Amino acid sequence: MVTALKKKDLEIALQKVRPFTDPNPTDEQYPTPASIAADMVFLAYSQGDIAGLKVADLGCGTGVLGIAAALLGASEVIGLDKDRSALDLAEENAKGAGVGIRLVHGDVGGLKEKVDTVVMNPPFGSQKKHADRPFLEKAMEVSGVSYSLHNAGTQDFLLKLVSSAGKRAEVLKRYKLEIPHTFAFHKKAKQDVEVLLLRIQIRGD
Ligand code: SAH
Repeated sequence: MVTALKKKDLEIALQKVRPFTDPNPTDEQYPTPASIAADMVFLAYSQGDIAGLKVADLGCGTGVLGIAAALLGASEVIGLDKDRSALDLAEENAKGAGVGIRLVHGDVGGLKEKVDTVVMNPPFGSQKKHADRPFLEKAMEVSGVSYSLHNAGTQDFLLKLVSSAGKRAEVLKRYKLEIPHTFAFHKKAKQDVEVLLLRIQIRGD
């Protein structure tokens, strides 16, 4: 499917996605801002990894990345999260954006379905060390190519994890993510975290 949606229009559509109402700090429920979500999924789209393909958003939360993929012409989008209230919100957000996402409730480790592309912003592991590991392992198991956001400070760990699985990863971009004072344990009003966008080539080359 060819889509005429421009990156700016995608960002405007994603600004309407409602954030978590009652975020859970242990699961690091930080939503990806519209500007970063639009940039990331547009990049995947421009590399031929979205349009007409089956895409999964692992740890979809509000659904912002899956919605972006659907808006850019993915043939099917799966949004998986272990938090049922996040899935309710994702469903509402998808409806609001005029797209359909198949929502799956469960732990990321349980996904068995194969997809073409994964787009995800998993927990960064600031609460539970390397909480993004099962997400990367699952992406490498079920998809052909994966785009994911991580704390830039864990780059060495990420690259080692991917290369020890015999796959190739590339850091495509870096962003500054502003984490608001959502959680009591944050001392400052907001905090900038440097994040990186990782692309892993899993099948073919
Ligand atoms: N991808 C969304 C949300 C990021 S927050 C966005 O970009 O805005 C991370 C999400 O991962 C949360 O919604 C949390 O509930 C979910 N999550 C954390 N651990 C998980 C696990 N083990 N299995 C499935 N989902 C998980």
